[in-house]
Amino acid sequence: MSSVLPFSTENEQIVSYNPATGEEIGRVPQASGESVRAAMERSRAAYSHWRQTSFDERRRLIMRARDVILSEVDEIARLISKESGKPLGEAISMEIAPVLDLMQYFARNAEKLLGPRKLKIGLYGLLGRSSKIVYQPLGVVGIIPAWNYPFSIPLGEAAMALMAGNAVVIKPSELTPFVGLKIGEIFERAGTPKDLVQIVTGAGEAGAALVDAAPDKIMFTGSVATGKKIAAAAAKNLTSVVLELGGKDPMVVFADANLHLAADAAIWGAFCNAGQSCSSVERLYIEESVAEKFTQMLVDRTKRLKQGLGTAEDTSIGAMSSERQLKLVDEHVEEFRRDGAKVLTGGKRNPKLDGLFYEPTVISNVRNDMRAMQEETFGPTLPVGTFQSEDEVVSLANDSEFGLTASVWTKDLKKGKRVAERIEAGSVTVNEVLYTHGIGQTPWGGFKNSGRGRTHGLEGLMELVQPQHIHINRLAILPNAWWMPYSPTAVETYRGFAKYFATGSVVQTARLLPQLWKRIKELR
Ligand code: NDP
Repeated sequence: MSSVLPFSTENEQIVSYNPATGEEIGRVPQASGESVRAAMERSRAAYSHWRQTSFDERRRLIMRARDVILSEVDEIARLISKESGKPLGEAISMEIAPVLDLMQYFARNAEKLLGPRKLKIGLYGLLGRSSKIVYQPLGVVGIIPAWNYPFSIPLGEAAMALMAGNAVVIKPSELTPFVGLKIGEIFERAGTPKDLVQIVTGAGEAGAALVDAAPDKIMFTGSVATGKKIAAAAAKNLTSVVLELGGKDPMVVFADANLHLAADAAIWGAFCNAGQSCSSVERLYIEESVAEKFTQMLVDRTKRLKQGLGTAEDTSIGAMSSERQLKLVDEHVEEFRRDGAKVLTGGKRNPKLDGLFYEPTVISNVRNDMRAMQEETFGPTLPVGTFQSEDEVVSLANDSEFGLTASVWTKDLKKGKRVAERIEAGSVTVNEVLYTHGIGQTPWGGFKNSGRGRTHGLEGLMELVQPQHIHINRLAILPNAWWMPYSPTAVETYRGFAKYFATGSVVQTARLLPQLWKRIKELR
């Protein structure tokens, strides 16, 4: 059974609100440092058993957790939508479905992906030695997610960590604690061993307490500022950290692209989750010759989108998750206006709706030297700039402190791949946008200030284990030439090692054999 913390500060509570209506969803305790440390202790005890389980046992747990989710997809989707504001459809298509897929993939494949790996060790192999890598779990993995994908991000990371043999403590965002608690409940109903998955609720301080409690790894998703704080705090215990941080992701559209498809993709890429995705299209560059026509296509499409309560099935744009985020978006749009950009549609809080709704906004005449083209907006805005050449657009795309994802649109796939490889970003898609976080098999993570390390894919799984090198000498009958005591014969042999053995060539090494034999006789 997984557990939710017994808190020592139950009078301090966090209130969770529905951002679309302002209604209170409920209250959760604010975990104290002491209770977070106690949770860590319990996790360590749970880990000592879990690390010994077979992959089969781990697989069964994750598949049972999937069954629990499948038995209440609509209920979970409604909770995600209510607590984050996102449309019900996105709660299912962008959170529940991808994480179910990730869970089955790692449940079925972790054993193969983490299987022992034989190493080629060159001439040492001829001396009867062999080496292999086995992957050991780390211990307790602390997961600190953001509020924008409150279900799929922590749950996906937890499922991978458990498959690798670790225990997990999750500190959900204070904006989405009930979705976090739901993850705990799912594992509990799936029959998870006691304390193997724990949820500690609370604000940033609870996250900081989790870092201070010295887990064996921290998987953090959030802003650059908090990421830096966490990296500094984690360094005190030498805790390694995966940082999934912000983005200012460019979409590059060449004139030869399928413009209808590119426009549809831009709308979804910029406005899904009300633009609150780390891999949202935050800047679009359109080739000048088709700029006017394409920008009009964007405006027409944007005007057709219905904004409203996320829980209504025909809503395309829901509420933003917090007043603070909405204000930041408004500030960026104001800055665009002040700097001479043109707001073509949207550009304000939706006056017809009471909650945290910002209208989907298309902006033209933007330049990279505008502040709002450099800082992450994280809202439903689509600023559109233009370019004339491939070199120019590559330098525009790379003119950013961030490098999470990017997309390139063209029918010329050779050009697409060429441009993709010149863009500094962790994932670049050609004629696709945003969605590869949903492919559990592919690595996720950023260049530059967008992060360190990876989640998902083999690379992400490797973050959750430590490689152990096992070296065996099958010919343990002779002493090694490099052992003590040293002598002039020994030193002459080492000269031969440097000159012949270290070439990696069997033929060269053969020249060393008489000297080697002399040395071994000396040692015997
Ligand atoms: P924050 O950095 O504000 O918070 C992220 C998490 O850290 C929250 O759970 C927060 O808790 C917690 N936290 C805050 N302060 C501390 C601290 N001192 N020590 C430990 N934990 C702390 O980010 P947001 O929640 O505002 O998320 C938005 C950001 O996340 C954007 O920049 C976005 O691009 C990025 N992001 C990146 C993704 C990626 O994969 N690269 C994916 C999704 C988002 P609390 O909320 O309770 O304050």
